[in-house]
Amino acid sequence: RKLPMDPSEEPGVRQVKGACFSRVKPQPVTKPRFVAVSHEALALLGLNGEEVMNDPLGPEYLSGSKVMPGSEPAAHCYCGHQFGQFAGQLGDGAACYLGEVKVPPGQDPELLRENPSGRWEIQVKGAGLTPYSRQADGRKVLRSSIREFLCSEAMFFLGIPTTRAGSVVTSDSRVIRDVYYSGHPRHEKCSVVLRIAPTFIRFGSFEIFKRADEFTGRQGPSYGRDEIRGQMMDYVIEMFYPEIQQNFPDRVERNVAFFREVMVRTARLVAQWQCVGFCHGVLNTDNMSILGVTLDYGPYGFMDRFDPDFICNASDNSGRYSYQAQPAICRWNLVKLAEALAPELPPDRAEAVIDEYMDLYNGFYLENMRKKLGLLKKEEPEDEMLITELLQTMHNTGADFTNTFRSLSQIPCPVEGETEGEDLIRQTTGLLLEQCASLEELKAANKPTMDPRELAMLLSLAQSNPTLFQMISDRMTIARQLDKLSKLKNLMETGQEELRSKQAEEWTSWITRYRKRLGRELEGQSDIQAVQDERVKVMDSTNPRVVLRNYIAQNAIEAAENGDFSEVQRVLKVLEKPFSAQPGLELPAWVGKGGTPEEAERD
Ligand code: AMP
Ligand code: MG
Ligand code: MG
Repeated sequence: RKLPMDPSEEPGVRQVKGACFSRVKPQPVTKPRFVAVSHEALALLGLNGEEVMNDPLGPEYLSGSKVMPGSEPAAHCYCGHQFGQFAGQLGDGAACYLGEVKVPPGQDPELLRENPSGRWEIQVKGAGLTPYSRQADGRKVLRSSIREFLCSEAMFFLGIPTTRAGSVVTSDSRVIRDVYYSGHPRHEKCSVVLRIAPTFIRFGSFEIFKRADEFTGRQGPSYGRDEIRGQMMDYVIEMFYPEIQQNFPDRVERNVAFFREVMVRTARLVAQWQCVGFCHGVLNTDNMSILGVTLDYGPYGFMDRFDPDFICNASDNSGRYSYQAQPAICRWNLVKLAEALAPELPPDRAEAVIDEYMDLYNGFYLENMRKKLGLLKKEEPEDEMLITELLQTMHNTGADFTNTFRSLSQIPCPVEGETEGEDLIRQTTGLLLEQCASLEELKAANKPTMDPRELAMLLSLAQSNPTLFQMISDRMTIARQLDKLSKLKNLMETGQEELRSKQAEEWTSWITRYRKRLGRELEGQSDIQAVQDERVKVMDSTNPRVVLRNYIAQNAIEAAENGDFSEVQRVLKVLEKPFSAQPGLELPAWVGKGGTPEEAERD
């Protein structure tokens, strides 16, 4: 790929006009060493993880401290809407493109279907200053690097489209970070993740072509924009959407088909996130991949107890990126992408595509949820209600998202002339009760985080001066706080036993409905055992046993910070087979929350 040459080859932060990439040299770190490698991800590049790990130069190359012959490192310049506001040019101040590796012969054709370009783009994240580093240093620390490394791989093995991570390297180089929770600045070790994807081009990559006057305050390199926008679209479509390039000789039709495919993939991806309880945390347009893969692992989180309002990003006060907001936020981001692609993409055509999004998303979500519930033989319109009621029951009883779904396969289908039906329901209710929160846990979960006096003040402000209220607060936050308060009030009047029997009542009633529905799966089936076996098989390969819970990542991070890297590698091994038990290889038992994602991620 021909890169635009900078007039000066000088390193350092600077204005680069009329380009969306700049050549840059990654800055070496002192004494680089591996924390962990992903054998599966490195195999994409034709590398043997064992050999790489044993090679003294392995960490040098995989951290960008040494550059491979033929590599032309570059930093990609892009924009983004952050928390709903256009933030102008903001990336990539921290990741450095190293080049592309041709897919080695003999690679799994399934992987190539996902990457028709026949090459893998590799980049090092945290390799030092680029022209786009602004006030920052382009470095990453161990905490955030381990989080990105583990989750990239975990998502892949869950079958969710994602960028990959080949290795995480740490070093003796240090940067100062003001760690929120320690309360004082800390010297932390510079660490680098090797990332792999067909491309890291994102929605924000196209926002750089907005007119200069659309940049609020900050000026960006926006001239020659129409030409470069066209080139980048050609590149993306020819390389990664070759079928569209072939099938649509008309440029406008091609662009519409491309945008539609991005929309479909995005809808499918969010549906997958929702179905494993994954919250991305920072769904700004610059973190949205043009290939519809999960991109940029920051303060992400997998839910423990189901809560539709789950927020994993502590700086997200309004809940803009909460779990249940994700589908609509991705739609909003697609609108922004469409704006950035105009006039190549006619706005009325884009609008029609976006109008399809919600229905498509719902379709993907339902399809996925039916598998999670083992409803395979027929689709009933009432399935949607059954799923909603399941989630409602989980929410009411404080049930663990992952474990609840995993235990559903143990609820057997009713068989004709079933006599022990009631016993079975009692048994399976017991199973689900194990996943529910205790009174103390529910009380803790519903403790309003806002001071009651502040809450009261805001409420009166909302009535007397709505404009001012909007300016200083967010209605969603208040609503959530009030909801918690009223739940807490109810809990205060409930004893542990009373709570348990309420929870049992709720689950019994849901399980009864679920088994009725399962009974209808069997209608007209001759081999009932085969249906039942198939159902369990599908459910147990759709509902993971393990996900990267926050405390698990945190535990591995703490061990690594103390010099023990084995836990990172062990966690990776477990997460490589998230659907099956591996004897002798278990994740650490539940130890409470252990640090918020935000604390660990903070760059
Ligand atoms: P994020 O919100 O994590 O997606 O980050 C947005 C942008 O901030 C990235 O694309 C980078 O360009 C920039 N950034 C984040 N961390 C750093 C860092 N340590 N040094 C320089 N730039 C950074
Ligand atoms: Mg980012
Ligand atoms: Mg980040």
